[in-house]
Amino acid sequence: MSAKLIKGTEIREEILEEITKEVAEIKDKHGVVPGLVTILIGENPASMSYVTLKIKTAHRVGFTEVQDSQPEDISEADLLALIDKYNNDDSINGILVQLPLPKQVDEKKILNAIDPDKDVDGFHPVNVGRLMIGGDEVKFPPCTPAGIQEMIVRAGVETSGAEVVVVGRSNIVGKPIANMMLQKGPGANSTVTIVHTRTKDLAGHCQRADILIVAAGVPGLVKPEWIKPGSCVIDVGVNRIGMNEKTGKAILRGDVDFDAAKEIAGSITPVPGGVGPMTITMLMKNTLKSLKFKLGLA
Ligand code: NAD
Repeated sequence: MSAKLIKGTEIREEILEEITKEVAEIKDKHGVVPGLVTILIGENPASMSYVTLKIKTAHRVGFTEVQDSQPEDISEADLLALIDKYNNDDSINGILVQLPLPKQVDEKKILNAIDPDKDVDGFHPVNVGRLMIGGDEVKFPPCTPAGIQEMIVRAGVETSGAEVVVVGRSNIVGKPIANMMLQKGPGANSTVTIVHTRTKDLAGHCQRADILIVAAGVPGLVKPEWIKPGSCVIDVGVNRIGMNEKTGKAILRGDVDFDAAKEIAGSITPVPGGVGPMTITMLMKNTLKSLKFKLGLA
């Protein structure tokens, strides 16, 4: 039997509608809307297209969006001064610095200079620490893991007591999603295992998973026989495996052998159209949250 498809494109629409409605209500009652600044350094085409999508989505949900484009040769001191300016700007609730940054700038120094209360990407060590503590302490969960958890919950998958296996231990996906799933509370309370390149018997661990979250960046890594029948499979991998000559667009594949896996799993995310659309959506949710914290509404 074919698994239920968990479509990020549809969940994104639901969440963006909810955000738009809430933004309008806050505007009515408090006369303010969330303010988001995107800082783009240089003209890297991939960065420009990510930023364009973020700006478009921010406009769609009714945010004030400030685009700040800076030259490739900006000095570290000037970029730090710019961040300081937005840290102190009352109309800005979220600061985004599009990565990667040019060589002359220390990426860690820049990200750590963002006010943790405006760090809507959730990468600042203070927010990483808050995530580890869990509960009310969490302000801005990082966007891709937050999107994954939201998909699992909205698909109606039971997480409490579930065996969750996370493939990959990166700071932006594997470690934070593992941490989020083991916390006390709704959408979590799971028993979590993280597996990685040094793990013995990867297949054996995956076979136990009620919820299998794969973020390795290796196309087709997870074989159908690794999947527990009826389980929920979240494929975070986005791998370019070629180019469609007709459309000129990249051909994308996930980390899971989708065609075979969908005959075994109970629910599964496609690639593309699965986790991908959730990241920017959760960025909008975090920016709205930032304003709500400021107004005492969250
Ligand atoms: P990363 O390269 O930083 O980390 C990959 C992790 O997978 C590492 O911890 C590594 O140990 C593990 N790994 C790699 N090969 C493995 C193997 N053969 N067996 C076991 N473990 C293995 O990558 P990342 O930033 O976490 O991203 C992972 C994938 O998710 C990539 O394809 C990336 O493009 C995608 N991604 C998608 C989104 C999105 O859809 N919004 C966001 C972030 C990342």
